[in-house]
Amino acid sequence: MMRSLYKIQVRGYATSAKGHTHYFAGGPLNRLAWLRTSPAFLNAVVRSPETRWVLFSDGKPLLATPPAGTAALARLETRDVLPLLGPEPFFSQAQRPGELAPPDTKELQAARLHGPPAVFLGLHEPAEGAPALPSSELSGRENAEAVVARLRGTPYFSLDVTDVPSANVDAALQGSQSGRDGAKLEFVDGRAAMSLINQFDSGVFSVARTLVDWTARNKFCAGCGSPVYTLWAGWKHGCTSLLPWAPKADKPCPTSKALNNYMHPRTDPVVIILTVSRDNSKVLLGRNRNWPKNFYSALAGFVEPGESHEDTVERELWEEAGVKALGMKYHSTQPWPFPANVMAGYYAVADPSEPVRTDLDNELEDARWFTREEVLSVLAHADSASAKQAPKWDSGVEEAAPAEEAARTQNAPLFKGPPPNAMAGVLIAHWAQGKVDVSARQDGDLV
Ligand SMILES: [Zn+2]
Repeated sequence: MMRSLYKIQVRGYATSAKGHTHYFAGGPLNRLAWLRTSPAFLNAVVRSPETRWVLFSDGKPLLATPPAGTAALARLETRDVLPLLGPEPFFSQAQRPGELAPPDTKELQAARLHGPPAVFLGLHEPAEGAPALPSSELSGRENAEAVVARLRGTPYFSLDVTDVPSANVDAALQGSQSGRDGAKLEFVDGRAAMSLINQFDSGVFSVARTLVDWTARNKFCAGCGSPVYTLWAGWKHGCTSLLPWAPKADKPCPTSKALNNYMHPRTDPVVIILTVSRDNSKVLLGRNRNWPKNFYSALAGFVEPGESHEDTVERELWEEAGVKALGMKYHSTQPWPFPANVMAGYYAVADPSEPVRTDLDNELEDARWFTREEVLSVLAHADSASAKQAPKWDSGVEEAAPAEEAARTQNAPLFKGPPPNAMAGVLIAHWAQGKVDVSARQDGDLV
């Protein structure tokens, strides 16, 4: 089957070989994934004075605001968080606290069985000079302590202190370098943090928050129901029924076999679709019945099993708005850590003379076409961008009163749009500002 492919010309916004780099994307850390299984490296790098810890509590990142400065992810030193980490060794723990696992036990590779969940996020390498970690020196995983001693850059870990007594957390924060320097240290809602932290921090936050959330909400083995623990420095879950000291079961947990991909962190794909009229003059926006008042955005939906992204674009347009996709074009993807999505942005083309209907799946309260002028007026309106107090527009939670209040004022925008640093906001702005053009078919037939 051939789909019409519309030629969507993109003019001059590519910032790298990858094209557009979204907020939450372009992560600044070298993840050093091959070292996640090396206890010698991990336990040595924890002790490096350069290492920094990003803390979470109930999914909220710890932000630090210096007395005269802007908020950023708090970066605590290892000596600041030592009272919270639990017993050493910190990775490749064995049954009893304080014991190091034998090196040849794969179930215990960089495992944490004692202490709060911690994840090795990677290394921020210095911008100039020699590479921080020449892979040839590390691929053998030998002399890890010596490697760490030579390491250039800043290693990052996350630590989830949700289950640590708050008095201990408070004491650690007050005693930390940031605390002593007078910074305000506060756990802040993740979406509110979106309007506060910069691009660098958004990349650290997006990987850390998704892993923290995954560990916090997946406590039991999907194969047999036993409790799980983390290994691979937080990047994998193991089933406790397979630990060396666990009683042998009659029927071993299915995760002992090759197919155990459900023990790895998940990322759920969602398509975000900005539908453009054939003459490129209008876009179709919808509002979910649970969204804040007068809030409109691009249509969206989860990719279902057995679907390509393109299939989802077609299905969602039809289910949500009764619109037939005449063509589509991929734009970019954005990791979305609330909790574990990757947003795939598409432009679709549809005929605005066809009726719009929202009665099929009843997910939308309204869907309608807006002209470029209307969208530009909303973008220009000082109050239109919702990023300042990022609403939970993707979670079905009603926003508080301020939006309604703004809508009542005389100068309220025609509608409120998604945050400019979310995929839908980028798709809308790029189209409205003429950075994309969907007026020509790829096969040469002008519409
Ligand atoms: Zn199991």
